Amino acid sequence: MAAPFLPLTRPTIDEETIAGVADVLRSGWITSGPKVREFEAQLSARCGGRPVRAFNSGTCTMEVALRLAGIGPGDEVITTPLSWVATSNVILTVGARPVFVDVDPVTRLIDLDRAAAAVTPSTRALLPVDLAGLPVDRDRLHALAARHRLRVVEDAAQSLGSTWAGRAIGAAGDFVSFSFHPNKNVTTIEGGALVLNDECEARLAEQYRLQGVVRSGLDGMEVEVVGGKFNLTDVAARVGLGQLPRLDEFNTRRRELARRYLELLDTPEWRELGLGLPPADFRQTNWHMFQVALPLERLTVDRAGVMAALQAAGISSGVHYPAIHLFAVYRRLGWKPGDFPVAERLGRSLLTLPLFPAMVPADVERVAGELATILRAHRR
Ligand SMILES: *Cc1c(COP(=O)(O)O)cnc(C)c1O
Repeated sequence: MAAPFLPLTRPTIDEETIAGVADVLRSGWITSGPKVREFEAQLSARCGGRPVRAFNSGTCTMEVALRLAGIGPGDEVITTPLSWVATSNVILTVGARPVFVDVDPVTRLIDLDRAAAAVTPSTRALLPVDLAGLPVDRDRLHALAARHRLRVVEDAAQSLGSTWAGRAIGAAGDFVSFSFHPNKNVTTIEGGALVLNDECEARLAEQYRLQGVVRSGLDGMEVEVVGGKFNLTDVAARVGLGQLPRLDEFNTRRRELARRYLELLDTPEWRELGLGLPPADFRQTNWHMFQVALPLERLTVDRAGVMAALQAAGISSGVHYPAIHLFAVYRRLGWKPGDFPVAERLGRSLLTLPLFPAMVPADVERVAGELATILRAHRR
């Protein structure tokens, strides 16, 4: 009998959460309300009590953070070319200019030496990404920001539950943005949250979240900023309320599975095949993804060929992400191949393997075994 199909990822939603969602649906209040406030409070508790506001994506959170920082036309924001395109799209959305700097080949994260060298008088903010959940060095990041009086928007979409120096991501810093897309370590179906510095900023974030509206008294309404339509629903927040208490359990399981991947792949034979592995971090990362860099120059197949062979064996794999500056929109703005060689090479060769809490070690063994068969069959 063929082994069951193994997806790249799958959310774990328990029956208690499903029943809770049904209760919200029956309650008569289904859009933003008490469940959103409860979700914000729970998340705030995980973030050292800092103010948190929930949104309907981890994209609009970053757009709002940039608006709160007053960033717009004429301003530059330094970021990484190796991320989900949302990271730099929001910079364009507010009218500012992304300034990409290449990534470190080992961590795959923004190279902070290059970031420091890219600061100009127009630089207003740093927008780093914790790719795969591995945290960017927060000490160096915030020292760089302080040196040049820059704002920081941490794209922590993938790093909820990761830590830096023993402290939860979100518990320190400037703006911190999380996403609760179904692929993330916890989900609200779609959703996001922004960690802010004080209640004043949080109130302004609420305005940007919903058309800029401020209500007063029974019938008063004022609009002082052009806000969006970014509010989370109570139905979605109820899903999140069933997820957050399980974050640590989910991340422990991810860590165990990642450890098994590394046990199997970090061997002399695999080193000989030239597979690139993620840093063996079992202290700081939440193992949002397990990504290998394929040794394409030593293979007779490309990445799509490897993915097709895995698919034929009943295993899904993914691409996170092609280098952003090579997308048509960005090429039209002047970027070109060769600008960021490390991100471009990783963008071509990174392959994300299945990793989610409902997997068991035998699934990891199956993936590693199939990958070995495929790579051996296509050696140059
Ligand atoms: C998921 C993700 C986002 C955007 O989150 P959405 O909730 O899908 O808008 C942004 N940046 C990174 C790195 C992500 O992985």
